[in-house]
Amino acid sequence: MELWYTENHTEHVRFSLKVKEQLCSKQSDFQHVAVLESIEFGRILTLDGYLMVTEKDEFIYHDMIVHVPMATNLDIKKVLVIGAGDGGTIRELTRYKSIELIDMVEIDSVVVDVCKEFLPQTACSLDDPRVHIYYEDGLKFVRRKVNEYDLILVDSTDPFGPGEGLFTKEFYGNCYNALNDKGILVNQHESTYYDEYVEAMKRAHQRIKETFPIAKVYQAHIPTYPSGHWLFGYASKHYDPLADLQEEKWNELGIKTKYYNTKLHVGSFALPNYVKEQLNEQE
Ligand code: SAM
Repeated sequence: MELWYTENHTEHVRFSLKVKEQLCSKQSDFQHVAVLESIEFGRILTLDGYLMVTEKDEFIYHDMIVHVPMATNLDIKKVLVIGAGDGGTIRELTRYKSIELIDMVEIDSVVVDVCKEFLPQTACSLDDPRVHIYYEDGLKFVRRKVNEYDLILVDSTDPFGPGEGLFTKEFYGNCYNALNDKGILVNQHESTYYDEYVEAMKRAHQRIKETFPIAKVYQAHIPTYPSGHWLFGYASKHYDPLADLQEEKWNELGIKTKYYNTKLHVGSFALPNYVKEQLNEQE
């Protein structure tokens, strides 16, 4: 008998992976958490049936959410990460010796426990002494913080379910306040290839643009996410991701990456015309 995992990317498009077995299936207070062993993509984590991470392509997402802001400001010392229960973002951050503190706010402890047991490839650095994990809603956590962080990474689920509040104007305003005067915010920004995701992405970008003086969008190719074309939002009170890129200094660090490099950093901000039109951005 053949086993297949299928995610509906739209009402009319399905994406399927052949699976060897289900390793874990748990209902938490927030969502259904599962790990499957797929043949092509290794272990995969799903939340409420939506694919979050695969062993084969997680490096792309985690490289791009972390190294783009880090190469823009090499003085980042205090980081807040919201979501990120699989640990991949934390793994990449802990490769920087210069980072002193990482607060991670994950709403669901079950995700972290499951990933520690079944996805050590991403969860391997969650015990780093610089990492402090808080199990609560990121929306509430960030309300209490003022002028504390150099960088905030929003590594969340989609704009529905527990992740919904992380795409609101209130949340972006609170991130602005939680950042110091040179702070950077990066969030996963969905994709706009399929029509049904366009409005949510446009709304999120508009809200970020109204909150931060610098607000841009960059892209990566992630095979297992809907359409394979994924966007990230970059916002800052001070640093421009292109003008301030510290290309030489970042390369001197000798951090070996499988996807990110400083040439790709620059290229990732060059968006296709249809995305530029959606964002209302002209050259
Ligand atoms: N890379 C993934 C993607 O884009 O599909 C995201 C993966 S990570 C597992 C997302 C995490 O965000 C989940 O573990 C989820 O529990 C967490 N999350 C969702 N809403 C949250 C909230 N309001 N506060 C904190 N964490 C939240």
